[in-house]
Amino acid sequence: MDKIRLLSEDTINRIAAGEVVERPASVLKELVENSLDAGARRIECLLEQGGARLIRVTDDGEGMSAADAERSLERHATSKIRSADDLLAISTYGFRGEALSSIAAVSRLRLITRRSEDRAACEIQVEGGRVIKKAEVAAPSGTDIFVEDLFFNTPARRKFLRTSATELGQAQSWFEHLALGRPDVHMILRHGKRLLLEAPAARNLAERAATVLGLEVYRQLFPFEQQDAGRRIEGLLSSPELSRASARDITILINGRYVRDRLLQGAVLDACRGSLPDGRFPVAVLQLWLDPAEVDVNVHPQKVEVRFARPLEIRRLVERAVRDLLARAPWAVTSRVYRLAQPLATKAPAVSPTTFQNLPLAGHNHAKAVQIGTAQEAAQASTGLEDWQWLGSLWNTYLLFAYGQELVIIDQHAAAERITFEKLRAARQAGQIASQRLLIAETVELDRRRLAALESGREMISELGFELEPFGPTAVKINALPAELARAEPRALVEDLLDYLAEDRLHSGWEALEEGLLARLACHGSVRAGQRLGEEEGRALLKKLQEIDFGSSCPHGRPVAVHYSRAQIESWFHRR
Ligand code: ADP
Ligand code: MG
Repeated sequence: MDKIRLLSEDTINRIAAGEVVERPASVLKELVENSLDAGARRIECLLEQGGARLIRVTDDGEGMSAADAERSLERHATSKIRSADDLLAISTYGFRGEALSSIAAVSRLRLITRRSEDRAACEIQVEGGRVIKKAEVAAPSGTDIFVEDLFFNTPARRKFLRTSATELGQAQSWFEHLALGRPDVHMILRHGKRLLLEAPAARNLAERAATVLGLEVYRQLFPFEQQDAGRRIEGLLSSPELSRASARDITILINGRYVRDRLLQGAVLDACRGSLPDGRFPVAVLQLWLDPAEVDVNVHPQKVEVRFARPLEIRRLVERAVRDLLARAPWAVTSRVYRLAQPLATKAPAVSPTTFQNLPLAGHNHAKAVQIGTAQEAAQASTGLEDWQWLGSLWNTYLLFAYGQELVIIDQHAAAERITFEKLRAARQAGQIASQRLLIAETVELDRRRLAALESGREMISELGFELEPFGPTAVKINALPAELARAEPRALVEDLLDYLAEDRLHSGWEALEEGLLARLACHGSVRAGQRLGEEEGRALLKKLQEIDFGSSCPHGRPVAVHYSRAQIESWFHRR
């Protein structure tokens, strides 16, 4: 019984059409999706030269009859839907019947396929869309597809392929998305002789994530699950120890399909607000299992965007799941401190976050809005430190001082960060940032994104006072750090540096890039929230804060200090 039919004109017209074959990665994605749709339990992929030379996908799925094999290469030929009504609830990856024909049109394609009930396999070879060979051959059941010399007959498109490392990187990240989407299937990716990833069948998302993302990332991830009215959400979220400079590592999967969805990404970010500093994003993987009728996948040619029937309900479900996790997370104590602290500073209208620019300083009367923008004034100010009464450290995060008629609360991390940032900036303006050698050099394994950043940012990295030395093909040895950051954890610092450089920030200009980078680095050398400071250390921080030429906030835009006047405090108790 053959299965593949040509879609009717009417159905074709209702399909969100567009280019499916952009580059090797998209070919790999389409082929693996076909294997998954064919019920494969094991899928093996092989690329050569980043996929430009060869993309081969071998599966043990249901295979095709000889007649279907031929039809599968025609446009709008599919076994997955029959009529336009079927578009309303799609439970397969594919449904448009376009991928194989589009791929065959721009490559040399060889298809070998056998159903378990057939004795012989069918082999078909196509070159630039023309069938050049058909034969019966011996082969195991399942399907084996070779796509060679992609775009060989469309030189203009071939020219647009990037280096094989870049194409490979793209293909690899698609492969990872597919592997995260379907933990139950054994999936293997090779590049030439090199095994890039082998993910044996796993029991759940968490187990699969350990393989795909690596144990080191996995250790920082916390699983959660939630169920509601036939919808199920399975997810993993990083602790604040593992954060990123962009939202790129928030992976969203719907019924096993990777999608880019701003709505759900926003839900994750909203739920995390307050548990990460501004500009930092969690690593998260989210899988939603929904009734296929609830989600329309027929909106984007590559099917990476979807539309929900009830978007707000889905959004709420995701947000609640993440919030529930945060509420019981082992690190939540710190995050709650942040959350409580912010409303405290902003709720009461009379009490607003302010800055050191407005703080009364020694040597001046208690007048408001004393500018201490200049070094001279700062020097003057620093003589009067003894007038600042140390009240204590609060929640290991804030330093409390009384100064005359003011209560001053300093965020110790924001303050330390500001100080480090100013020192780095001053050093940078004076020339090269001094470095300090590590007693014991540390070696760090880098993923491909970071390796590329290391390559392209070499010059800037060394001007900043880092000394990094390639160590084998995928690692780097850290010999020296900027002296200002000598206390930072070298590995985390370097990873963060490279992550920052890996983001495409060049459009914002060199200066903005560098400011941002210094701000980011400053975060590392600095006292953290959660570290208890005693009076001596608290005062030392205050002194340094007054010595620098500081602006209004820490480099991440959070206020460094807030102050409450005695009058404000008395009004809370109706004394005035
Ligand atoms: P679609 O996946 O949208 O149906 P494709 O062009 O990707 O369109 O594939 C056309 C048809 O070929 C599929 O509907 C399926 O019946 C068949 N097919 C493709 N790849 C495989 C495979 N690996 N195993 C079994 N059948 C396949
Ligand atoms: Mg398909």
